[in-house]
Amino acid sequence: MSDHPNSRLFADIARYAAERRAGDRERGHAPEATYAEQVERFRIALKDEGHPGNEVIRELITLAEPGLAAMTGPRFFGWVIGGSNPVGVAADWLTSIWGQNTANHVATPSASAAEEACRQALLEIMDLPREASMGFSTGATMASFTCLAAARGEMLRRAGWDVEANGVFGAPAVNVVLGEEAHSTIFAGLKYLGFGERNIVRVDVDRNGAMIAGAFAEAMERVSGPVIAIAQAGHINTGAFDPFGEMARVVKAKDAWLHVDGAFGLWARATSTHRHLCEGLELADSWSVDGHKWLQTPYDCAYAIVKDREAHVRAMRIPASYLPSTGDDARNPSDFVPELSRRARGFATWAMIRRLGRRGIAEMVTRHCAQARLFAQKLAEAPGVAIMNEVVLNQVAVHFGSDAQTKAVIAQVQADGVCFVGGAEWRGKQLMRISVINENTTEADVVRSAESMLAAWAAVRRAH
Ligand SMILES: *Cc1c(COP(=O)(O)O)cnc(C)c1O
Repeated sequence: MSDHPNSRLFADIARYAAERRAGDRERGHAPEATYAEQVERFRIALKDEGHPGNEVIRELITLAEPGLAAMTGPRFFGWVIGGSNPVGVAADWLTSIWGQNTANHVATPSASAAEEACRQALLEIMDLPREASMGFSTGATMASFTCLAAARGEMLRRAGWDVEANGVFGAPAVNVVLGEEAHSTIFAGLKYLGFGERNIVRVDVDRNGAMIAGAFAEAMERVSGPVIAIAQAGHINTGAFDPFGEMARVVKAKDAWLHVDGAFGLWARATSTHRHLCEGLELADSWSVDGHKWLQTPYDCAYAIVKDREAHVRAMRIPASYLPSTGDDARNPSDFVPELSRRARGFATWAMIRRLGRRGIAEMVTRHCAQARLFAQKLAEAPGVAIMNEVVLNQVAVHFGSDAQTKAVIAQVQADGVCFVGGAEWRGKQLMRISVINENTTEADVVRSAESMLAAWAAVRRAH
């Protein structure tokens, strides 16, 4: 094997990968270098001739490392992001090694079949309608965009308008109803689809950020014409879930479309401990969920799930005369996402489903939720600390004394480097946000991180 031209290149990177991951547990969490410094370092002294591959990769490592955050580490609680499991990473390497252009099933039977197998398995794990179609997208942002494109097309079709043929200009107005605290990427998706901010109806939410069922019903009564309603499984700050069952009943009566943004929260459905939060969610028309969050696949990996396959395909299919087909039953990956040439996203998902199994996924999600409660409990014991949310899932929103003090605590925790947390503004207040979602996080990591946060809080109080 060592005689092959690239064996050294690949062997070196494999050795580096193992060492890098072995260091995850004790690495400082915030990047050492700033963006400005890294721009300077990365600048390419452009030459006419190329460089040997080994040198290029070594140089890339040397340049990049100081500007990397330890996002794969077990005490990274900064955002709701997964840990990029080594098995998923290895499958992802194979994805690149094989270099399949994943548009068409005749050209790449394995890449297409892996997606089809994952579609079936994921619908089984989430207990969603088994006939639903699934697009493999870069992230939940594009997954929601894809689902909402299907929703827009189908709602207009029912109103007698063929949007694929006639476009959006001059089409009947489609109402969009969503919660006051929907994720920012939902608004991005709506913008790409031609829905203006002003045409969106926002519904009041409760203390934890979940839509109020009565307010939703009233908002739905006020709108006339085609409607797309958007619910959320897993609020970004609180982890809250919308009242799907009640929403679905109202939506059905209106012949409307219900989409669920479940980027991380949809995985609660895989558990026995938190499944009740998802009650009624199965009655929706579409769902978006990430693989690169709770399933721990590497980036980029998410699923756009649509109950009405025809609506999904109508919105996304790219007709290409030069691409062969064996008929409509076979899966062309490009029928379900807004991309033609792309990586074979099914392989990493396939590997992670096999690696974790149903129980592995369920136990991990349940464990993270227990760890989030432990965080809340440990922090709430200290004077001046307020837990701002009801910890229903894996998210903990913390406030220390004042907004300024909360910011100071975040900066101090980041400087200490034991763990990483970020901040957010929520309802006019500064929060420190904890997201527990890395599969390697242990109870000891939570205890150690909570101690670091409380030490930072003590230091901030002394300084004020
Ligand atoms: C992360 C997240 C998104 C966006 O997902 P990406 O994978 O970053 O595109 C959307 N909605 C919610 C609730 C999220 O947590």
